[in-house]
Amino acid sequence: MSEFSKNVFSHYANVTPGHLMIGGVSAAQLATEFGTPLFVLDEADFFDRATAWKQALEQAFGDRAGTVYYAGKSFLCKEVTRWLAVVGIGLDVCTGGELAVAQATNFPMKRVQVHGNNKSESEIRTAIQAGVATLVVDSFQEIERIERIAAELNTIQRVFLRVTAGVEAHTHEFISTAHEDVKFGFSIASGAAWRAIHEVTAASHIELAGLHSHIGSQIFMSEGFEAAAAKLIALLAQYRDEFASELPELDLGGGYGIAYLPDETTLEPVGILTELAAIVRAQCAAHGLSVPKISIEPGRAIVGPTTTTLYTVGTTKDVVLEDGGIRRYLSVDGGMSDNIRPALYEAEYHAIIANRTSSAPTINTRVVGKHCESGDIVIRSIALADDAGPGDLLAIPATGAYGRSMASNYNHVPRPAVVAVIDGAARVIVRRETHEDILALDQ
Ligand SMILES: *Cc1c(COP(=O)(O)O)cnc(C)c1O
Repeated sequence: MSEFSKNVFSHYANVTPGHLMIGGVSAAQLATEFGTPLFVLDEADFFDRATAWKQALEQAFGDRAGTVYYAGKSFLCKEVTRWLAVVGIGLDVCTGGELAVAQATNFPMKRVQVHGNNKSESEIRTAIQAGVATLVVDSFQEIERIERIAAELNTIQRVFLRVTAGVEAHTHEFISTAHEDVKFGFSIASGAAWRAIHEVTAASHIELAGLHSHIGSQIFMSEGFEAAAAKLIALLAQYRDEFASELPELDLGGGYGIAYLPDETTLEPVGILTELAAIVRAQCAAHGLSVPKISIEPGRAIVGPTTTTLYTVGTTKDVVLEDGGIRRYLSVDGGMSDNIRPALYEAEYHAIIANRTSSAPTINTRVVGKHCESGDIVIRSIALADDAGPGDLLAIPATGAYGRSMASNYNHVPRPAVVAVIDGAARVIVRRETHEDILALDQ
């Protein structure tokens, strides 16, 4: 069994005092060699987490274990697809661009699943031609498109039907995706899911493999999954009653929560999947159904904790608040272009000074970026050493998911490099953008 760590600091050595080490390399050395802002990915930690989810699915579901599909949207590059191939898990993509990354490294297409609520005809055609395992169908128009394109290509495409279970996961509204008022999936409650099942079943170039549900992200409690599983399994039973056969698979999506702050803990794969397995078995037994093959789609839970962002502090400014207190604005050399999550979801992060020890008293600090936007905040409020200032190196843990993958060129800021560290060695897996890269698009 691999190492599995629940804490944001688990893969650091010497967090205190000073001189942060990641994967056996000092943060200060990484900053000097590769520049900042920099995403530093602990490769061994990635392997440990990916392996832990794979083993936990097998342990919890036994011969009913389907595939762990890594959600590529959380962070994808060629090297990541090579790692997934080594670990032996699958990949979820939702655009032609993400699929192209997998194709570039000859990732086995039989372990690729394609979802998305508005796949273009060309994306559908490319995916079917590439021979992906499954398309996750998300609209009535798409049923017609897949049927037509698969017929043209003279093939039968396996699909899952994405359904909306009417479950609100206990998380921030914008990352809840399975209550009714969302763009994803066919609603069970409205009857759309049932109609879609009939249309897909009638289509001669589509094979319905099962149902798919993703109830949201950063979920810590099994209740959301339990409620969704109950709805999905009831629908599987309704299918069995109508068509006198059972759908063989169920994909329960991703969304497993991770720690961002020192007092939070990351969901442990064996624990949550064992709970899920008990729920699925009980629900299937209640309907007299055999247990379908269960697949899951963790993204954040695999890559989120592996990565640390290193920033260099540029300026500080003390402002007097209405209550007479002081807030220090500490500006770093990146911000919302490499981490949009605080602005988008009010996500919270922690920071440590990575280049030295300080015994100075702390001051109420807001860590902000360099963009021309007041919402460009990295950390809204943190107690940082009073003597932290220009030239200091700030490390933000748990930035592996939805950081680099959501990065933008706002203010024409080049996107940071991603460096993988392992056994004391560091190498670039995504190079830093340059002004030339950005200007190359201009005519
Ligand atoms: C985003 C997404 C995931 C991954 O979510 P995480 O919170 O990163 O685990 C999985 N499946 C689908 C369909 C998604 O949209």
